[in-house]
Amino acid sequence: MNAKEVEKKQAEQKEWDLDDKDTKDMYDAMLDDCYDRFMGLYDPSQVLEEVDPTAYRCGFNDWADSLDLIWICPECGEEHDDEDDAINCCQPDMWKCSECGKEFDDEQDADDCCSKDV
Ligand SMILES: [Zn+2]
Ligand SMILES: [Zn+2]
Repeated sequence: MNAKEVEKKQAEQKEWDLDDKDTKDMYDAMLDDCYDRFMGLYDPSQVLEEVDPTAYRCGFNDWADSLDLIWICPECGEEHDDEDDAINCCQPDMWKCSECGKEFDDEQDADDCCSKDV
């Protein structure tokens, strides 16, 4: 038995970052959905950010904690909601021959590589 499964890179967990514009937009949209416009004029997210930045940041952290985990493919950076999907996104199952290190996409081929029974 020479076949050894080739190890895959781990998927990274997406970190929600208020400095990321898309993430901030999502958070702002959530706040604006939850509250009425301030004096009918101002977006609640904007008011909170300016008047009470600490509360704004705290709220962001709570909100980020409530979100589903997102996993990032280590190869292409695509986002997946499932860790296995992210790992398998660009990394097919590969096996390698434990004798010579050659890689195969078929376990049997790796197994047979250096074990030629003559
Ligand atoms: Zn990928
Ligand atoms: Zn081999």
